[in-house]
Amino acid sequence: MAVNIEKYREIVKELGDKIKLIAVSKLRTVEEIRLLYSLGHRDFGENYVQELIAKQLDLPHDIRWHFIGHLQTNKVKIIAPFIHLIHGVDSLKLLEEINKQAIINNRTIKCLFQIHIAQEETKFGLSDTELKELIESIPKLKLSNKLSHVRLCGLMGMASLTDNTSQIRKEFKYLKCLFDDRGDETSLSSFNTLSMGMSADYKIAVEEGSSMVRIGSLLFGERPAK
Ligand SMILES: *Cc1c(COP(=O)(O)O)cnc(C)c1O
Repeated sequence: MAVNIEKYREIVKELGDKIKLIAVSKLRTVEEIRLLYSLGHRDFGENYVQELIAKQLDLPHDIRWHFIGHLQTNKVKIIAPFIHLIHGVDSLKLLEEINKQAIINNRTIKCLFQIHIAQEETKFGLSDTELKELIESIPKLKLSNKLSHVRLCGLMGMASLTDNTSQIRKEFKYLKCLFDDRGDETSLSSFNTLSMGMSADYKIAVEEGSSMVRIGSLLFGERPAK
């Protein structure tokens, strides 16, 4: 087990109480998660539905599970009973399915829109135009009751995988702009979360206005291969 407790404490202190730390535990053991849990940590991020389900069954139920991977529509029902926040919503179809499954489970599910800010084509997320269209369609969706059980809480993005820090900063700045420029405040009063920053770039993300960072390898060491 390779949890870096000192690093954990250092990051928690550095972030203060304004910025939330999500410990990214994909491909880590339940023992590793338990260790951070025993230190009082409750927010964990996972990328794979099957892995998440297995861990959720095994671990204390007051853990707040964050889904940070690419979520397929047909898998929403599996995590809908307990998921705390879905970071990667990138289509209206997915959002409507989350709403449907939330109704079935008699709960409200919090969601972030994932925005494509990196240079890599392989990364997921909405373009600024797609985000704008989605946000503009919200009043109509609300009228037809299609968002009754989802809460739109903000945006998430992943910067390019590069050593070029000015490129990374530019991408985070851009995401922060989109976040600040979300239009009609009244229809999105819950829009208060900006999930950006990982092990390699969280300091830049924090400087650029992140309110939630997702950190794995700094806490748990290098990730085993999937
Ligand atoms: C894996 C992952 C992280 C954590 O990455 P580290 O570099 O290990 O901190 C953060 N966000 C997302 C979306 C991820 O898939």
